[in-house]
Amino acid sequence: MTDETVVVGEFSHETNTFAARPTDRAAFADRREYVGAALLDALRGTNTTVGGVVDAAEDRDLDLVASVAAAATPGGIVTADAYDFYVEEILSTVRSNAADLDGVVLSLHGAMVPEDGTDGEGPLLSAVREAVGPDVPVVATLDLHANVTDEMVAAADALVAFETYPHVDTAETGRRATELLVDLLRDDRELSMRIERPPMLPYGPLQNTRSGPMAEVMATARRFEGRDGVAKVNVFPGFHKADVPAMGCSVVSVADDASAAEWAARDLAAELWEMREAFVGEFPDPHDAVGRALRSEAVADPEAGPVVLADSGDNPGGGGTGDETAILRELVDRGATNAGMALLADPEAVAACLDAGVGERVTVSLGGRADGSFTPPIGDVDGYVAAITDGEFRNTGPMATGTENHLGRTVLFRCGREDGVSVVLTEKRIQPLDAEIWRHVGVAPERLDVIAVKSNNHYRASYEPFASEIITVNSPGVAAFDPHQYDYRRIDRPVFPLDEMAADDYPDWY
Ligand SMILES: [Zn+2]
Repeated sequence: MTDETVVVGEFSHETNTFAARPTDRAAFADRREYVGAALLDALRGTNTTVGGVVDAAEDRDLDLVASVAAAATPGGIVTADAYDFYVEEILSTVRSNAADLDGVVLSLHGAMVPEDGTDGEGPLLSAVREAVGPDVPVVATLDLHANVTDEMVAAADALVAFETYPHVDTAETGRRATELLVDLLRDDRELSMRIERPPMLPYGPLQNTRSGPMAEVMATARRFEGRDGVAKVNVFPGFHKADVPAMGCSVVSVADDASAAEWAARDLAAELWEMREAFVGEFPDPHDAVGRALRSEAVADPEAGPVVLADSGDNPGGGGTGDETAILRELVDRGATNAGMALLADPEAVAACLDAGVGERVTVSLGGRADGSFTPPIGDVDGYVAAITDGEFRNTGPMATGTENHLGRTVLFRCGREDGVSVVLTEKRIQPLDAEIWRHVGVAPERLDVIAVKSNNHYRASYEPFASEIITVNSPGVAAFDPHQYDYRRIDRPVFPLDEMAADDYPDWY
């Protein structure tokens, strides 16, 4: 078997165009930035798309040339400086290997918005296509939350998305993409893609692929695959916190010929559209949700696991500031005991706690300070500095297993009395989707009665095994799941459930 030369790279960001703070190079360095061959060693064996590509390439004797792997926590528009830098890293690797290049596989998100445009990945893929010419296959992985553009579909040979939310199949997705690339290289397979866009916005918590309507849609997608030359049916419920023309739901099919791609995309889009009402729901506000948690039988039962409150409106994984205080305020005001909050990104509070020192009492103001916060600080909280860490730990749960987290200087702050609400105070923003964040500050999360987590759905992978109950909270913040909250100017209308939909607004395939 010949060793084909394949360039691998990652440039991933989910951009919340409503978030106040732009995403610059420092934000990528904070989360993940590996350049050149270092990325192979750093990500091999981790549950990341690049990790899956590396493992599959070694199994299939591909000669990988590493470009760059860069990912930042979701946030505001990507600065021109950061966008140009990482695009140029990838293009320069492609160009300098052009003479004997056989393929390209890129790990992208699909909802990146650069400062100077509305689509990060389409122009990147077009530039790669231009550099390699029409005959070298280009395959890209996308997050399930991509807002897919026609340009992405036109420029790539195949797009391969996560099938799960929580995204526990990231390495598997990298592997699938690499296997498709091998088919294109060694079996002279040619692929057609087709995109259809049901005009609907499935609410974030209802995009959970583990149960409910999304689980049904995904099961249908899996049934279509393998039938009639259909290689892949990608379902994208969309990332709604982006005011760009392609924002919304789409289905992208990949098949051996155009007619197979067409029926697969249309049939699945029709199923989604048929189910549109099931993707809209009501969820309690922080006051009602915290009341329900504290009244739960699980709280009175020392054997029961915690009630988990999902602070979805302030999910840093959707661009949230990570310092919204609505749920924490409810917990503190009601005198919750043996409760926890992961996390609160508040460098000023961290500094005050570090000045006081571990084991000391201190009075601090908590949260509500970041640019664009929806909620005010909780002032004058008297509490105890229970632990101080460097904020470094690796995920041990099912998502992004083995990858590093960098929280900056981190404090476990206990509000009020000894058994008051424990807050993981951090300098940096991440989505605390892995319960290891608790263990790294010396807390066994299983033994808390109530845990609030700044996450929309990803926390389920790590927390569901020990939670007694889960409550999704419609909490305030720039990551809130209800699309009615956002003042869109550039998206396609009409769209369900924002607009009244008349029969002649329905898609032509319906
Ligand atoms: Zn996602």
